[in-house]
Amino acid sequence: MAEQKGLLIVYTGPGKGKTTCALGTAFRAVGQGLRVLMVQFIKGSWHYGELDAAKMLGDDKFQILPMGRGFIKIGGAETDPEDARMVREAWEFGLRQIESGSYDLVILDEINYVISYKLLDPAEVVEALARRPEQVHVICTGRNAHPKLVEQADLVTEMREVKHPYTKGILAQRGIDY
Ligand code: ATP
Ligand code: MG
Repeated sequence: MAEQKGLLIVYTGPGKGKTTCALGTAFRAVGQGLRVLMVQFIKGSWHYGELDAAKMLGDDKFQILPMGRGFIKIGGAETDPEDARMVREAWEFGLRQIESGSYDLVILDEINYVISYKLLDPAEVVEALARRPEQVHVICTGRNAHPKLVEQADLVTEMREVKHPYTKGILAQRGIDY
């Protein structure tokens, strides 16, 4: 059997499919008996289908923790300290879980987005992830992945928008977008 080597994976780009790709990987991993955690940096308000689907699999197999509040106000001086605090808390929690040995795959959902809005220091993230236990896989999702993270990663896929129903005025669909 192949040796397990924890990969650092990045799903980024403007097209739809970053979080769903991470969820698909989680689904595959659970099937192989891996324990999976998804920490969500932004989500917290909408009720996403994956929260219930993960519960159906069982908390011991796939746990999703929304640690945001659905949106983040952007802009340096206007950054809400509450958003900064929640991001910090989610990052420190996620890192502890990566280091704990309790999970084989940890997904940091929308971490690229919060790094790009300067709510997290990219150097700190990259250094901490480089020091993680070597068998743990980590997936970072979100637009505008930082170049340092891209350089460090073993696998980077950029979603390119070819078409999106939103441009025709079609709103988010239950079971597809949430
Ligand atoms: P998904 O969660 O569907 O995989 P994503 O993770 O690639 O999407 P995000 O940047 O996290 O995309 O955006 C989250 C929301 O924005 C989702 O509801 C998604 O459908 C929507 N979205 C994603 N890409 C686009 C796009 N190119 N145009 C409009 N809406 C988009
Ligand atoms: Mg996403």
